[in-house]
Amino acid sequence: MLSRAHPRYESLVLRDKIVKASKEGYLADSAMIAHGRGEAFDYLLGEETTLPAKRAMYVTVALMILSKNPVISVNGNTTALAIDEVIEFAKAVNAKIEINLFYRTDERVDKITKLYKDHGYPEILGSNDDDMAYINEIKNPRASASKNGIYIADTVLVPLEDGDRAEILSKSGKNIITIDLNPLSRTSKRSDVSIVDNVVRALPFMTKIVDDLKSQPITYLKKIIEEFDNEANLKESLDLFKIKGEIK
Ligand code: ATP
Repeated sequence: MLSRAHPRYESLVLRDKIVKASKEGYLADSAMIAHGRGEAFDYLLGEETTLPAKRAMYVTVALMILSKNPVISVNGNTTALAIDEVIEFAKAVNAKIEINLFYRTDERVDKITKLYKDHGYPEILGSNDDDMAYINEIKNPRASASKNGIYIADTVLVPLEDGDRAEILSKSGKNIITIDLNPLSRTSKRSDVSIVDNVVRALPFMTKIVDDLKSQPITYLKKIIEEFDNEANLKESLDLFKIKGEIK
């Protein structure tokens, strides 16, 4: 049993979730490495949501509200860390949720499909019985997408995407938004909006601001989207990484 007083409590809780998900068999072997990389970046950020991350999240919510077919793409790590937060955000902005796994196996997809059903979201896309197609007709498993989801989406939010797939998505003409703690990843650099934050903080933050942005005039939402410069925002995010702490 973890003590809440432990200085690394929050981080250890997330580790536990990843370990449990791995034992349940819906994570790829490399999932723990990906989590560890994110954990290290989060450590250097002070495990706090930064101003540029918040700015990118306002733009994200505005984009999701204005989109006709917004979709949230989920993998095993996102599911393990934030399944309820994904569902809540999807409902708040009227987005669909689609499973997309880098190392796709029928078994993992079935397990993740069941988890979403168990958490009250039976309409998950990208399951084994869903109708799939290839983005831009690229015959590559990294380009596969649900015909009712990412294939026809105008905006795709991809927390923790892998770089190869991000490249394919970025050429698809859709608005691509990512949540990735690494501002230097190919995914962050290729996306139209890059949120450098932990998915466990970013998703609830965005759910919280939905009502406020929905009450704003459309012209205001369009304005914050137009004024956003992802490259400048990523540079600002990168500048905030520093080694905090003291050696005594
Ligand atoms: P690239 O996009 O450069 O190809 P990659 O595909 O090698 O990067 P992966 O290791 O596949 O990156 O994906 C892990 C990415 O997800 C890392 O950039 C890591 O920082 C990020 N990450 C891991 N856990 C989290 C988390 N909880 N929240 C946000 N980002 C995370």
